Amino acid sequence: MLSEKVQSMTESATLKMAKKGRELAAKGVKVISLSLGEPDFDTPQHIKDAATEGLAKGITKYTPVSGLPILKKAIIDKLQRDNGIAYEDNQIIVSNGAKQTIANICMALLNEGDEAIIFAPYWVSYVEIVKFSGGIPVVISAGIEKDFKVTADQLEAAITNKTKLIIYSSPCNPSGSVFSQSELESLAEVIKKHDNIIVLSDEIYEHINFEGKHVSISSIPGMKDITAVVNGFAKGYSMTGWRLGYMAGPAWLASACDKVQGQITSGASSFGQYAGAVALNSDHKPTHDMVIEFHKRRDLIIELFSQIPGIKVNRPTGAFYLFPDVSYYFGKTNGTHTITDADEFCELVLSEAHVACVSGAAFGDDNCIRISYAASEDALRNAVKQISDFLSQFR
Ligand code: PMP
Ligand code: GLU
Repeated sequence: MLSEKVQSMTESATLKMAKKGRELAAKGVKVISLSLGEPDFDTPQHIKDAATEGLAKGITKYTPVSGLPILKKAIIDKLQRDNGIAYEDNQIIVSNGAKQTIANICMALLNEGDEAIIFAPYWVSYVEIVKFSGGIPVVISAGIEKDFKVTADQLEAAITNKTKLIIYSSPCNPSGSVFSQSELESLAEVIKKHDNIIVLSDEIYEHINFEGKHVSISSIPGMKDITAVVNGFAKGYSMTGWRLGYMAGPAWLASACDKVQGQITSGASSFGQYAGAVALNSDHKPTHDMVIEFHKRRDLIIELFSQIPGIKVNRPTGAFYLFPDVSYYFGKTNGTHTITDADEFCELVLSEAHVACVSGAAFGDDNCIRISYAASEDALRNAVKQISDFLSQFR
């Protein structure tokens, strides 16, 4: 009965592990959840107050599909201020979360058989959204030894006359790696040589960058007209439940996304958009404070994981994930269980050590696991101790 497209779709591994963790917790097991990519901070008070104010002002009706004018203006100002890129009103589409923004773009661009090059490790939903839109995901990967960053040469080799889209996130979910200006310039050099390719640059972790200034590939000369910048409020403003994201790109693509979204969901929540404008326009101290906290935890989680024998630890410079290589444990047994691969590693760590994390297989690297360190220091220390004690039984 179900469509072939849905039958061939994989459930989101991040959401699945979060659900499994919750199910175990409901049975009374004390589970430490490091599976979901969600800041453990509340939305800053002034943003919550703005939503209440929006309600009081009667901003409770349908908005234009592409977004409330006040929010679109705040987004345009933000892109100029933070990224040095000038956009017009007809180039911005506000959506129900960055996830919908990505789906809009894929549905607007891809014909059956068009190829979308995806840099691995990648965020779980890219591959499924591309497939659901009729496209063919073409994955190019970089492992831990390359800091999980694909090169311009790899990109050049993967481009064919069917390539329509290139998708990546920087800062990256799941690796936390950040492309430098010069790395983006080399990628841009390759992309500019080819016609009819759009870059989907997912910048939702823009603010969570520990060592440098965020660079958008759209700010590189010649790239703005062929880039769809994806961004949102979930991570930088701790607004995951608000469901608010946006795209900035060429007007023809924005107009197509407007049409797609207009038939599927319409505009995002009215008072949420009103509060989103306040988030962008106001002081970013709460974001900066959150990033200072994530930076401390990044250092802690690297230190803790580095002490577990056999695990290779990366050094993320953005987002709030660690993506260690755990392949040393594959094939090892404690007499009762054998760790066959990263999926089994995560299943056992959840059922036996009571820590929820996500297998790297879902992100295109089956040697690794993803740890979301958006959790308290105590939770992180306890989680790593429990994992370490469990692994110490394996030979
Ligand atoms: N892109 C990346 C890289 C993400 O990690 C996420 C997860 N939140 C999204 C997009 C989707 O964001 P949203 O919650 O705004 O839909
Ligand atoms: N993006 C977050 C994550 O990677 C939230 C869950 C999801 O939307 O997949 O965990």
